[in-house]
Amino acid sequence: MPLQTKLFIDGEFVEAEDGSTITVLNPHDNSEITQVAQAQVADIDRAVAAAKRAFPAWRDMQAAERGRLLLRLADLVEDNAEELARIESLDTGHPIRDTTGLDVPRTAFTYRYFGGMADKVQGSVVPVEPGFLNYVTREPVGVVGQIIPWNFPLMFTSWKMGPALAAGNTVVIKPAQVTPLTALKIGELMAEAGFPPGVVNIVPASGRTAGQHLAEHPDVQKIAFTGSTSVGRKIVNYSAGNLKRVQLELGGKGANIVFDDAFLPGAINGSAFAIFHNQGQACIAGSRLLLHERIADEFLDGFLSLAGSIRLGNPLDPDTEMGPLTSTSQQKAVLSYCDITYQEGGEILIGGKRPDDPGLADGNYVEPTVVRAQPEDRVCQEEVFGPFVSVNTFSSDEEVIELANSTEYGLGGGLWSRDLSRAHKVAGAMRSGMVWVNCYKRVNPGSPFGGVGSSGYGREMGFEAMHEYTDAKSVWVNVDAQIPPYYPR
Ligand code: NAP
Ligand code: MG
Repeated sequence: MPLQTKLFIDGEFVEAEDGSTITVLNPHDNSEITQVAQAQVADIDRAVAAAKRAFPAWRDMQAAERGRLLLRLADLVEDNAEELARIESLDTGHPIRDTTGLDVPRTAFTYRYFGGMADKVQGSVVPVEPGFLNYVTREPVGVVGQIIPWNFPLMFTSWKMGPALAAGNTVVIKPAQVTPLTALKIGELMAEAGFPPGVVNIVPASGRTAGQHLAEHPDVQKIAFTGSTSVGRKIVNYSAGNLKRVQLELGGKGANIVFDDAFLPGAINGSAFAIFHNQGQACIAGSRLLLHERIADEFLDGFLSLAGSIRLGNPLDPDTEMGPLTSTSQQKAVLSYCDITYQEGGEILIGGKRPDDPGLADGNYVEPTVVRAQPEDRVCQEEVFGPFVSVNTFSSDEEVIELANSTEYGLGGGLWSRDLSRAHKVAGAMRSGMVWVNCYKRVNPGSPFGGVGSSGYGREMGFEAMHEYTDAKSVWVNVDAQIPPYYPR
């Protein structure tokens, strides 16, 4: 399988100036996959300079032409689906059935959506006082820096670059060090699609050095970040120098509410997908189960037996339902929350450890884990980012709304109920950027995605995203130039 291992800067694949590299590991057994060039501050400067040079022509290109390149890229993602899925599974540990069925098609879908969007973002005419014409256009902000995490490295290239490029910005994107491979592959496909040099620059690098430099860079007009809340706070500080625009998609602690009138088989299945898909490494994971006390036991019977039957294994095996966590440090972090559960007096109902299978001993595997704890405990408040879900019970709608809103986060949440009015009322009362009713983790490039509170601000997807990547410009015209508009004499 041919891997791309170099930085993509100004339309070419190059080594880091000082020859630095990152060792990329396979999370199934922690063997080395390859070495990838690691951008340093000087390489970031080169990438930003290339993006700055490319910006005027890209901005002035007919919007439909920009869109055509994104549409071509979407086709190329589909043409290379099998290879992209395999590389993503190898690098991240996502089961091949997921990368084939979700990650890759969603990536193509998102590039295609924004390809179609490029020439559909229109300005407006404002009805101002007679004699004047006021029109508003949307202008790209310029060079955009984008920093993405390791949990959906391929898909997030499309969420980030799709709207930025469609709107006429040029991009420097920094993938996470642990998962750089598919982003670099996208660079190859972009070159093949015919994107002009410098429009996109892809620079795997350490966040703490090169990432900070990108976020501070005076020639970068916007920084879009997906990752942890703690780094998100730093990004805000880094942005202050040139007051660049900031967009933050941060952590979550999704409340997943099951009412006593829910269709339980659907709720059980959907709740398992909500937390165990992608090994729970999703900002929108349904990581807090809130169960009505009348159905809690019945729900848990079904949920625990489902959790216990999930097939863990090598991500490249088509039968695998759950792979390893993407890094050993994430595995350690999740297992540490199992210790914390005991320390806080909670109870582990299932899992809480690495699997016994000796074939998985060298990988970053953790069994699907369900714990019971108090709502104020750390395991019910902090983002674990793994196959780890806490359980609390409630007895009234008022109580569960308070519980749902009791963390600092507000990204995604869900509820299961067959009572229409209850569903709408509770959905409205949840302090959350997204709510799913009788489903969970639905995402579509047309529907705004983002959070409130410590989950960040700004929205990806849809027209909202196009506004995030453009500034409004208001132009005033005195229609009758013979008439002085002010101080008439
Ligand atoms: P992270 O440590 O915040 O890293 C995210 C990205 O930021 C990586 O590319 C990282 O580079 C970079 N970075 C780290 N420190 C930096 C700094 N000081 N300046 C600039 N960039 C820096 O998060 P993570 O642990 O990789 O990812 C998991 C977290 O992301 C979870 O908390 C999760 O909820 C959140 N997340 C949120 C969303 C959302 O849409 N809201 C989606 C996915 C994930 P390195 O490669 O060096 O680490
Ligand atoms: Mg890896």
